Amino acid sequence: MQGLQMSENYNEFKCIEKHDQAVTAILIDRRRNNNERFLCKECLDNQLQVFESISIVAMQKIIEDKQMKRRAMINDIADQYIQIIQQYNLNLENLKTKLTSSIEMMINNTQIWMRELNQKKEDSRIYSFCNELEDYIRSTKQYMHSFQFDFFDKINFSQLNKLKTGIKQLIDAHYTHQYKELFQKLRDINDERKQLEKQEWQLSKDGKINLNQISNPIKQNQNCSALAFNSTGNILVTSNDREIMIWNFNKGLMSFGQKLQLSNIINCLIFSKQSNIFISGCIEIICWKEKSMNFWEKSLSYKEQKEKIEKENKHHEITCLVLNSKEDQIIYGSRSQIINILALDLRQNKLEFLYLIKMSEGGWVSSLSLNHSENLLLSCGYGDKIMMWKQSKENKWVPMTELTKYQDKYKEDLCKAIFLEDDEFILIQGGKNCYSSYKYSYNDRIVKQNYKIDFKDQYKFLDSLHQSFEFKPEVNLLFTRYKDYIYILRKQNNGQYKIVFTKQYQTNIMYGTLSNNGQYLVMFDKTSSSYNIYELQDF
Ligand SMILES: [Zn+2]
Repeated sequence: MQGLQMSENYNEFKCIEKHDQAVTAILIDRRRNNNERFLCKECLDNQLQVFESISIVAMQKIIEDKQMKRRAMINDIADQYIQIIQQYNLNLENLKTKLTSSIEMMINNTQIWMRELNQKKEDSRIYSFCNELEDYIRSTKQYMHSFQFDFFDKINFSQLNKLKTGIKQLIDAHYTHQYKELFQKLRDINDERKQLEKQEWQLSKDGKINLNQISNPIKQNQNCSALAFNSTGNILVTSNDREIMIWNFNKGLMSFGQKLQLSNIINCLIFSKQSNIFISGCIEIICWKEKSMNFWEKSLSYKEQKEKIEKENKHHEITCLVLNSKEDQIIYGSRSQIINILALDLRQNKLEFLYLIKMSEGGWVSSLSLNHSENLLLSCGYGDKIMMWKQSKENKWVPMTELTKYQDKYKEDLCKAIFLEDDEFILIQGGKNCYSSYKYSYNDRIVKQNYKIDFKDQYKFLDSLHQSFEFKPEVNLLFTRYKDYIYILRKQNNGQYKIVFTKQYQTNIMYGTLSNNGQYLVMFDKTSSSYNIYELQDF
């Protein structure tokens, strides 16, 4: 194994001040750009070392230690793959030998068989006068009509038996193929490998959380009210008023890819978990499909039909939307009491209105949540209005219970809810400064409050519409924005969710999303008009 090799040359590195000197040290500061990392002796003399710095030799030692480890791991993983592929290769060789030998035997066998039959044709030329005469004399009347061909049976029986032996060998040979074992072993190694990869970032299962800002803020003049990661976490889509911004996301760094122009403000973005397709909601629902690198095709769209808009005669802004796990149904709420249900067919490129349901009171629909089994749906509105819906036999959502009576005194305040378990959800009530857990009992068909916890912060703003309400059970994180605060909640040993992180903003116009593994939080806020990226760490 040859030694490590650095792809750059030391002379390529230039110090911050662009002095004509060799670089000797490095600044360890996440907020600096990559062309502001190196220091020469003169820089050091100019006291730039107030920041944390390290000598270039020491840094190279750290990097090479890691690279040695990485190399050993790559060698090990590649060898594991090679070993099982080698075994499969042997299986194939073995199979080939067995197939070839039995096929050759069978070909030989069939040729002999045909030869024997042809021989019988040939033999039929010759007859024995004496034998035939004997037959004729024994039964004169029958002679012209009596034949015997049972010699065919003898030939066929013996040759067919030989052929059957060959067929059995041919079928048995397929067992040496063992492709299922190959697939299983590949999966096993993949799983082991993922375990190694995960170790780069880890978060304890419970406990307090710290947000560590990484990289510089990214400015955006217009407001962002929706953000979503794709399933692999390398693409982030955000809204910029009437534009959709598509970002490449790598190790906590956002780099701009492209933008898509729409004619209305975008409030909702949601990514498919199966492919690079996302859905945007403004006054219409649009599906976007990645056709090639950085080319997103507007593939489907749906706008409320005129007759469904009622008296106001304008399309309502979409406020929240959910996609079911099969990704064949979209449920969305808007600045009305109506919840629309659409059928989605991504293969056939079809988006079709199915039916609508209506909240009885409570102004606009402020949140929607499906439970894991997708047999319960929660919809929230203003004035403490919350409704639970169940699936009817006809697979339609029908109202089941109204959890709270509509209260006029809270009509400026919205509430929102999200399922944590199949039968448990968290409800946040804007008017009451609290969150509570509710449980649905399938036996008694009633919803009961489990516990209630007050938010203790002083708020300067009301809660604002549009969702930044996310639940990541694998890492035990519940993220929400509430009025001018963001909160992260985690499940404790007693089963209750407690606040483990709090951050105040000078606005209630701030939205964010967690990456799928919970490693990063991307936030946009109106005060700084920028995106900030944080890595979640144990406190
Ligand atoms: Zn310098």
